[in-house]
Amino acid sequence: MIIDEKEILRLIEDREEPEREELLAILGKAQGLGGIVPHEVVRLLNVTEPEHLSLVYERADRVKRKVFGDRVVLFAPLYLSNHCVNSCRYCGFRSPNRELPRRRLDEKEVVEEARTLEGMGFKRLLLVVGEDPEAGVDYLVKAIRAIHRETGIRIVHLNAPPMEVEALRELKRAGYGVFQVFQETYHRPTYKQMHPKGPKSDYIRRLTVMDRAIEAGFDDVGIGALLGLYDYRFDVLATVMHSIYLFRSYGTHAHTISIPRMRPARGAVLTEQRLTRYGVTDQELKKIAAIYRLSVPTAGVVVSTREGASLRRELLKAGASQMSAASRTDPGGYRQGGKTLEQFSTDDKRGLVEVMLDVIEEGRLPSLCATCYRVGRVGRRFTSITSQGLMKGFCQANAIITLREYMLEAELDGLKETFENALKRALEEIKEERVREYVLKKLKELEEGRRDLYL
Ligand code: SF4
Repeated sequence: MIIDEKEILRLIEDREEPEREELLAILGKAQGLGGIVPHEVVRLLNVTEPEHLSLVYERADRVKRKVFGDRVVLFAPLYLSNHCVNSCRYCGFRSPNRELPRRRLDEKEVVEEARTLEGMGFKRLLLVVGEDPEAGVDYLVKAIRAIHRETGIRIVHLNAPPMEVEALRELKRAGYGVFQVFQETYHRPTYKQMHPKGPKSDYIRRLTVMDRAIEAGFDDVGIGALLGLYDYRFDVLATVMHSIYLFRSYGTHAHTISIPRMRPARGAVLTEQRLTRYGVTDQELKKIAAIYRLSVPTAGVVVSTREGASLRRELLKAGASQMSAASRTDPGGYRQGGKTLEQFSTDDKRGLVEVMLDVIEEGRLPSLCATCYRVGRVGRRFTSITSQGLMKGFCQANAIITLREYMLEAELDGLKETFENALKRALEEIKEERVREYVLKKLKELEEGRRDLYL
């Protein structure tokens, strides 16, 4: 069983705030990088006392640093099409939305968008597509092949509708990294209400897609619930249970867990009252990020530009480890913005360099790394290395190398010293002489013009 809905409903009946001693015991256990179990997740969901909340955030940050070091990986989404046959009530791309000018990028436009993002400094992209019959496997295979053939983008992940094994196998063969599908909500009655028509109305087909993706050869999968569609306590616990199921069944946890929060979308049909009924506050979102970190320590906790700059900074202090930046949620938006509408409004409109500066000012290290997928540190192996705390050395080294590479290509104007100091600090934090020597050698090779170096 992927998730046990009855058990979830039983567990979340518990609303009692844990005593400090019990809380410290759960947080102490989580430091072992083995995660925590569902009833302990509920105990953390019940934390509301400010002092206790600070403990939860601080310990989640400690786990994040044990697993991935100081680095925060940055990437950008690339929307391919806003055609969709589904009618999700919260989405601007829903098929009944006749107001929306529809657009599907052709191969040349996909490459132009990818080149624009590469020009900004990105090396890692997430392609996003709805249920568009004209943007199926062949289209997606052509898209990634064109990106790899004509740009220097190093890894391409995919957020796409559920598919059958054979189709997923073709996508894996074409070179996609992480296959990402959000369940939106694991609460079946709400799922039914929110997805009245179209292929997406099939709850089980969506819930079981990661089994098919792993059978098809995807080592790394990304999950998440759209927070605010239903009671977040239910969906957070279900998301953790889903990852535990993947670990028990395939030896690998979810590679990423995203925390998208409901946003107003032009053309959606949710009333303001329904939009806010299960609304998740900023403090609750920060707690959710921390709980995902403590429950599934090896997963990337991913923050999008749905959230504003100040909250994104806060989420970095609570275990978040990946962020999108400079995002457009309309197909063709990076080169020809405004031709159609965005899927949802983003709240952080800053460019990559501003977000990198923020990460540095938070005492962390912006990273454009795309290594593990290309050197086989994936799936079971990735989960094994990270859960032993052995990944952070790679992350630190690759963050330094990719940041230097970015600095050699970007116009940093008056920011150069800030970036140099961040690099210097990060180099000093590498304790192993051998690793520091390797990184210094790679930095020298970058100065000499080499590119795409990693550990
Ligand atoms: S080394 Fe691996 S885990 Fe670390 S940032 Fe790079 S790809 Fe991610």
